[in-house]
Amino acid sequence: MATQAGNASKPALIDPHGRRIDYIRLSVTDKCNLRCFYCLPEGYKDFTEPSSWLSFDEIERVIRAFADLGVRRVRITGGEPLVRKNLSALVAQLNAIDTIDDLSLSTNASLLRRDAPALKQAGIARINVSLDTLLGDRFAQITRNGQLATVLDGLMAAKAAGLTPIKINMVVMKDVNDDETEDMVLFCLEHGFTLRFIETMPMGDSGRSASLQYLDLDIVRKHLAGRFDLIDSVMPGGGPARYMNVKGTDLHIGFITPISQHFCDTCNRVRLSADGTLYLCMGNEHSFALRPLLREGISDDDLKHALLRALALKPRQHDFNSQPGKIVRVMARLGG
Ligand code: SAM
Repeated sequence: MATQAGNASKPALIDPHGRRIDYIRLSVTDKCNLRCFYCLPEGYKDFTEPSSWLSFDEIERVIRAFADLGVRRVRITGGEPLVRKNLSALVAQLNAIDTIDDLSLSTNASLLRRDAPALKQAGIARINVSLDTLLGDRFAQITRNGQLATVLDGLMAAKAAGLTPIKINMVVMKDVNDDETEDMVLFCLEHGFTLRFIETMPMGDSGRSASLQYLDLDIVRKHLAGRFDLIDSVMPGGGPARYMNVKGTDLHIGFITPISQHFCDTCNRVRLSADGTLYLCMGNEHSFALRPLLREGISDDDLKHALLRALALKPRQHDFNSQPGKIVRVMARLGG
């Protein structure tokens, strides 16, 4: 693991397995205003205290250090990131880092009517929105309390604010929403959204019990190929989705298959939780606590050395298939 001078102005951060790490997923809170059954256990209260969260200035310091080492993309996530107060101020701070080329957000869209214009103005270019169903009753069941109308309204507000592309993330589950994949394609065609299907991961007890509804996305792809003319395509974004285009349209459909066909060989990312713990792999426990170092007054140079020490811990691949009982933390801690 090392930083290598790609050229003098663009260092590259290389992990122990030879992968270039240029992407950080930044969770700003583990709290969420929805309770998707596959993400959070019923009655879950084990959220971290806001007093343990990194401040915006601390987050900026970590991202600046990563940017100096070669990170170029940041995605803000949660929990639901928009429940963190004044998130646009953090966006503006991160947007001011010259070498961060891509600043994006993952959200459930429920607060976008309120926040989309300010986010756009502060520097968010593109967003990913979780949306597993277009049926109101089913939405309320999956999210345990959510209102589909609020989310759809938030999506339209994001579109009107000029956030683009908007990618819809749908976790497809057997006997839960697998009858809606065609409808979701038509919805995304109508609104000019990109669509990505995601396989259920055994994260925490909720993810593990939802894995009973796990569906191999190859089945979805074959089903849709019977209805739409799908051709291989690519879509910029830095993520692991394999894309297909619906011929004759602008619609790209991504398949994110961590379980049936993992993509660890091309992993390019690390994750920072709200409490300042760096996680080196979503499907493993390897982590490194940054908050104590930040609060002890670590220098910028020493912070960068600490990030390199942390990166040395990055495992080769997740263990979701070989040890599905391993990950205790819920997805909301790291934000997917
Ligand atoms: N609240 C934001 C949102 O809704 O996108 C960001 C956080 S949410 C945890 C990020 C993504 O993780 C969502 O697309 C959600 O559907 C997905 N997710 C949560 N638990 C999952 C699981 N067990 N398997 C697969 N995806 C999961």
